[in-house]
Amino acid sequence: MQDLFENAKRAANTAVERAAWEADKMRRATARQREMDLAQRERATLIEQLAIVVLDLDKRGQLTQDALKMLAQRLRILDSDIATGQSDIQTIRSETFKPGTISIQVTRTNVPEAQMPCPTCGKLIRQSASFCPSCGARLN
Ligand SMILES: [Zn+2]
Repeated sequence: MQDLFENAKRAANTAVERAAWEADKMRRATARQREMDLAQRERATLIEQLAIVVLDLDKRGQLTQDALKMLAQRLRILDSDIATGQSDIQTIRSETFKPGTISIQVTRTNVPEAQMPCPTCGKLIRQSASFCPSCGARLN
């Protein structure tokens, strides 16, 4: 009788643990996806700025390699951020449940990435952004 009770208790605990684990997994994948959506938006803005700067410099006969290099570098950093984020999402989605590991998973805070005001223009941006998508200021 005692064994039966213990078994039932263990099964219930595992089911609860598994549900919590699944919820945590989904929460982390969604949070990372949200960050990547912001990064993609940042990328679109950057490409737009790139075109504007290139066209403007060209119009004034001042299109230099340095100006192009700086913009290309920003784009490369952002692309690498996006690639990392997408591989993180794949990793999270491919995680499999292991009973007894949930204490680590549930206590982790997986809030979506915080935003902060850009120190230059004040617009709210991702905390991990390399550049302000609004004014282009370098952030880290
Ligand atoms: Zn800014």
